Amino acid sequence: MPDAFAHPRGLFCNRTLNLRSIEAIGYDMDYTLVHYHVELWEERAYAYVRQGLAARGWPVEDLVFDPSLVIQGLVVDTETGNVVKANRFGYIKRAFHGTRALSYSELRDTYRRSLVDLHDRRWRFMNTLFSISEAGIYLQLVDLLDAGKLPERLGYDDLYRTVRETLDAAHIEGLLKAEILANPERFVEADPEVPLALLDQKMAGKKVLLITNSDWDYAAPIMEHAFDPYLPGEMTWRDLFSLAIVGARKPAFFNESAPAFEVVGDAGELRRVRGPLEEGRAYVGGHAALVEASLGVRGDQILYVGDHVFSDVRVSKQLNRWRTALVLRAVEDEIEAMDGFAPQQERLTRLMERKERLEAYASALRLERQRNAEGYGPRTDRDPDELQARFEEVRETLVQLDAEISPLAKASGRLVNENWGPLLRAGNDKSLLASQMESSADIYTARVSNFLHYTPFVYLRSRRGSLPHDDATPQDGGLEAAAEDLGIEDFGDGSAAE
Ligand code: IMP
Ligand code: MG
Repeated sequence: MPDAFAHPRGLFCNRTLNLRSIEAIGYDMDYTLVHYHVELWEERAYAYVRQGLAARGWPVEDLVFDPSLVIQGLVVDTETGNVVKANRFGYIKRAFHGTRALSYSELRDTYRRSLVDLHDRRWRFMNTLFSISEAGIYLQLVDLLDAGKLPERLGYDDLYRTVRETLDAAHIEGLLKAEILANPERFVEADPEVPLALLDQKMAGKKVLLITNSDWDYAAPIMEHAFDPYLPGEMTWRDLFSLAIVGARKPAFFNESAPAFEVVGDAGELRRVRGPLEEGRAYVGGHAALVEASLGVRGDQILYVGDHVFSDVRVSKQLNRWRTALVLRAVEDEIEAMDGFAPQQERLTRLMERKERLEAYASALRLERQRNAEGYGPRTDRDPDELQARFEEVRETLVQLDAEISPLAKASGRLVNENWGPLLRAGNDKSLLASQMESSADIYTARVSNFLHYTPFVYLRSRRGSLPHDDATPQDGGLEAAAEDLGIEDFGDGSAAE
């Protein structure tokens, strides 16, 4: 298996997970088992939202879907009409108002006192790839609202609510889904390795489950399209799954106790179920505790695999202690972009190290000058003016260094997406998406078929976590290096003047 552990196709581990102790593996369908061509699917969703808004008399005919305007993991600020990218602490590192990027000073002024707090309804996290049409059209509509072109008097929060309701309707009404079902090969990205990965798991004795919010009329034909051609002999997707649960209403599925209905017959008639769920059958509704009781497994023996950061992994882990895997397709692009940027990154890292040394050197000169001039603490015999001149010299070098650093830093902030940069990083730090993922997903990967190369018996161990003090170097060594850097020999040994 030479390619088995190729980087972009890896399973990445936040918390140690031994697949041998997992009895059941539940899968979400949309963007988990079945990946769509995002630009095509979202363009259709966008078109239905536009149509819904046009029906309200809004002048939206000329709006065009721009798939790169936003990315998964951003946050809509419904108070200001902005979309923002935050780091793991909730600090806002980048923002768009309408389709325009905020300058650094606008960003600082707007968010001087605000952190993204996802408990507050002001902030709406873009959890999945289904958010690309939503946040994108919201920004375009903010432009129209600001220009006074919308016929209704709305706040930015009303505008967001209208977009949400219109998008909800598009997902639910059936026209959008009918369009996908009429042409699944156009929208679904085929991955024949997914059925094989699940078959391996089933044959290894695990119960394979489908738990999707999609309804039967959509899920059944999509599963048939994505699975049946790649299963052996007469086997169908129904034979693969011990339980198929549609219309699951996640996240409520994990903490409420909705009744379950069995899907009987091909026409999808429903029959109320009173006892446990039975293997080999398909259901609408139900809830997590019913699944556990029916299969006779504990929450920590179930692995749930999904793409929705909140509904699929956060809630199932927090409330039910299910083990969780997040499917995040962007991990592939991100790893590839980082690999391509590696030589520049290496140079950037070296320049930053040099900058740190020079800054430390400048600070030491400044302190030495301060003590000598003010006559306190340990002093040296160097003249304050001479120290000042040397300090200015170092500062000048730092300005030149910044001119080299700046284009590299900018380029690194534009990787993956021109407007927003990488999904999982915000500047030098982890993004809010990365920290959400870290805290709720035991493992993450770009696609379900990546399980194939790891076998159903893999023991995934988390890496030793790093802390900032792990590789910190003392500043003193750096000072001499900085002096050398500048061609200055006699930095002095810090000895006090007699
Ligand atoms: P799952 O990922 O398999 O649980 O299914 C996701 C389902 O939710 C799909 O049927 C989507 O069409 C639907 N969906 C995604 N976004 C929205 C939304 O904003 N409103 C209503 N339904 C949505
Ligand atoms: Mg999904």
